[in-house]
Amino acid sequence: MLKANYHTHTKLCNHAEGMPEDYIKKAIELGFIEIGMSDHGPVPEEFMSKEEYLNNWIQRNMKLNEYYEIYLPSLDEAINKYGNKIKIYKGLEVEYIPGHEEYYIGLKANLDYLNLGIHYFLSNGIEKNSYDDVNYKTIYDYLNIATKGMDTKIYNCLVHPDLFYFDYKNEEGKQVFDKHCEYVTREICKSAIKNNVYLEINANGPANSRKYGHKNEWLYPRKEFWQIASEYKDLKIIIGSDAHLINNLYNEDVKKIEEFAKTLNLKVESFMKIK
Ligand SMILES: [Zn+2]
Ligand SMILES: [Zn+2]
Repeated sequence: MLKANYHTHTKLCNHAEGMPEDYIKKAIELGFIEIGMSDHGPVPEEFMSKEEYLNNWIQRNMKLNEYYEIYLPSLDEAINKYGNKIKIYKGLEVEYIPGHEEYYIGLKANLDYLNLGIHYFLSNGIEKNSYDDVNYKTIYDYLNIATKGMDTKIYNCLVHPDLFYFDYKNEEGKQVFDKHCEYVTREICKSAIKNNVYLEINANGPANSRKYGHKNEWLYPRKEFWQIASEYKDLKIIIGSDAHLINNLYNEDVKKIEEFAKTLNLKVESFMKIK
């Protein structure tokens, strides 16, 4: 049974419900020892073209002023109120856009940790989307952002590292976990070990797969990815509920993910060490 979760959203990302306090109260009720809030971080508009911004749904994210005026104060307030009942960490889920390291370091200055979530990645100078633009060629651009991001040492955890498979297409345009996927998986595992970054088994993957018509299979977490990951004994692995609804902090899918990890003999850490 989960005792901590470090991947939790709030209504500030405009596709989730609740504020930190709501999730924290639920976590206490569940008997969690720790909780980390990690809503989608702000992305300044000047980081990319209008089209890239829209294609990657970034307009939904909290704005920089909301980060300072609403998000951080709501976290401090929650810590004041509930900090004696549960350990609360302040975090964000952000991307890695090369050249903007200082920006992420600036965000982190007010936080305990950053989760790296690659929802889009630079490919030939354009921000492509991880949900629909990954194929046997662009998967190497996804990998590049993952490993370069981890190399910066800014991030604590790479969440849903296997998101590249969501709509992956091989040479024949078919969705198959092929040799390219295997290579990328191994490189992500090696980089995570080298940089002491956790890899997350994402418990929102099953719901996201169902939403896109995959009722009986998980696009992520992807079995083949985690089978390969299980070979890397030094890998630090954590389960993240990626809750966008309060009741999803610990739901049936999270339980299935716990079973999935057990079946694959994955050594899951109960707590994430915050660097
Ligand atoms: Zn994410
Ligand atoms: Zn998330």
